[in-house]
Amino acid sequence: MAHIEVILPIFNEVKNIPNLIARLDQVKKELSPSATLSYLFINDGSSDGSTELLSQLHSSRNDIRVVHLLHNFGHGPALACGVSHFRGDLAVFMDADLQDPPEAIPEMFLAWKNGSKTVVAERVSRSESNKVLFNTFYYLLHKVAPQLPPVNFGTHCLLDASVIQRIKTLKEKNRYFPGLVGFASPKIEAIPVHRLKRLEGNSRVGLKGLIQLAITAFLSFSSLPVRMVSVMGLIASLAALISGTADRKSTRLNSSHVKR
Ligand code: UDP
Ligand code: MG
Repeated sequence: MAHIEVILPIFNEVKNIPNLIARLDQVKKELSPSATLSYLFINDGSSDGSTELLSQLHSSRNDIRVVHLLHNFGHGPALACGVSHFRGDLAVFMDADLQDPPEAIPEMFLAWKNGSKTVVAERVSRSESNKVLFNTFYYLLHKVAPQLPPVNFGTHCLLDASVIQRIKTLKEKNRYFPGLVGFASPKIEAIPVHRLKRLEGNSRVGLKGLIQLAITAFLSFSSLPVRMVSVMGLIASLAALISGTADRKSTRLNSSHVKR
């Protein structure tokens, strides 16, 4: 029997946690007895009552573990913390606001049973308003970073313990999670999912966070920024050379007019 640990980063999700657990518990029943399911919450410095709720859940159930971070570090660092605390045969990563449907887990698990070590939830459609922005980001990223799998996915994925082990060896400070998953996986299987709207509250990552993530992705997985800097350096050197030559000529012309 395989043990799946579901890793859930949490920042102020007190209203979503009860629904999230109810839906995960349904999946847990559905998967039994082929797999057991437990939940690892990474509480990323919440201040809305999530901390207290998670502590209660941890004391009343033996299938819930919680790591409380001292401050709010961000989604990426919370995922990295999940990677380092993972215990199990398989990890499922997903957001806690129910944008990633827990009901996709059985299909991911089936794909794993059939031999896939990395199964990602490909966002074939999304209910969010800024989907043009997301689609443009994925289009550009996959144009300039051909080593990344051409799959539109975020956090929602199932990873074999061997893939987690490989991710642990990657020491990047700024981490673009889907890129690390792609880098650490020999092959990726994608299952189609519809990305839902956040159940309660507004995005915790926000536009600023998404822009930072996009910059990290481009800097980490594409040589385009380095090439752009090289070209700019070359243009600046040529400009300096040309203006230096022009200066010398005009100095010579001026000095030929001076009477001796
Ligand atoms: N999250 C986190 N730390 C943060 C921001 C977000 O742990 O600083 C969690 C959040 O609670 C959710 C997941 O990361 O479970 C995704 O966040 P969000 O829904 O804000 O991201 P979006 O879907 O808007 O990209
Ligand atoms: Mg969300």
